[in-house]
Amino acid sequence: MLHWEQMKQVLLGLELTEIQTILGPGLPLWRARQLYEALYRQRAEQLQDVTTLPGELREALAEQWDVGWPRPKRCYEAADGTRRYLLSLTDGKTVESVLMPEDGRDTICISTQIGCPVNCKFCLTAKLGLERNLTAGEIVGQVLSVCRDQGLSPQDRRVNVVMMGMGEPLLNLPNVLKAVRLLTDSHGVGLSVRRITLSTSGIIPKIEELGREAVRPKLAISLNASTEEQRQELMPVTRKYPLKELMEACRRYPLRPWERLTFEYVLLRGVNDSDADARRVVRLIANLKCKVNLIPFNPGPGLAYETPAPEQVASFQAIVRRAAPCFIRKPRGREIYAACGQLKLVSLE
Ligand code: SAH
Ligand code: SF4
Repeated sequence: MLHWEQMKQVLLGLELTEIQTILGPGLPLWRARQLYEALYRQRAEQLQDVTTLPGELREALAEQWDVGWPRPKRCYEAADGTRRYLLSLTDGKTVESVLMPEDGRDTICISTQIGCPVNCKFCLTAKLGLERNLTAGEIVGQVLSVCRDQGLSPQDRRVNVVMMGMGEPLLNLPNVLKAVRLLTDSHGVGLSVRRITLSTSGIIPKIEELGREAVRPKLAISLNASTEEQRQELMPVTRKYPLKELMEACRRYPLRPWERLTFEYVLLRGVNDSDADARRVVRLIANLKCKVNLIPFNPGPGLAYETPAPEQVASFQAIVRRAAPCFIRKPRGREIYAACGQLKLVSLE
């Protein structure tokens, strides 16, 4: 049987117009604004804390509604300061978020789905399959929850959000876009869109859809291979969305003046990490306004790949740099399975 609390509806994730609707036509718009600001600007965790609303209204609302923050259930901390959070959602399922503190910056890596339907061969999350999409409130809630735990304000310019946790954001686009609107609204959470990045495995029609949005995060593409065949093998989604067409979509993508594309490239020893691969990457991205992040493979149980030697990573980087700025992503929190592609499946006791 469901607990009464779980049967309540969730406020987090509602936009102003939706809040207006639930408050009903009898109340002025400014009441809806007060509740909106309490949810997203003051970041109230419970209706009781929304003291700008009269007590009676709060109580009436509380009969049917809950704020609905994801609750930290477990938190693992790595030696490098990375923290991996397991957050409980209102239906009892859990989702993962990661906080990566770096000098002067805090990057929060959030999930957009529970599991992932895209079957990349080097990724642990893939082994879960898709359990369900996250709601906009659950996506926003991860940022609020991690910030609260760390005593951070999302309005702080040092806070960055990357949608690189569990899931393929472009296969949950309506909820992801709604979450981005809520996160970037200056009357609400107040993050800048320039501080949010969405990473995709390359769902071409959705990249095009994203490009047409007025409020959209920066775009990162997981390239991960230098030829059509190699990409098909590593990322079966390529059969539907070929590398050639993906690169054409990247060339057509309407970048804003301040923006560049990011390409991510997981380096798998002896598979896609040769100098010849690097030269092919140079040709693929030639003349694109972009940067490249190399991610040496993070191992996980049941993944049949190896991490390349540091010299090979350096050699790959030196070649790609001929075409674009190219960085090596430090593995973050590998020992707690917080690094790229390691989320879910592994629980540490
Ligand atoms: N689904 C989206 C975002 C989540 S994955 C995407 O694929 O882009 C985030 C990044 O982690 C991707 O660039 C992916 O290629 C990378 N990744 C997945 N498994 C990895 C692993 N085992 N080691 C290193 N990077 C990995
Ligand atoms: Fe999904 Fe990204 Fe993992 Fe591929 S790499 S399975 S798209 S989470």
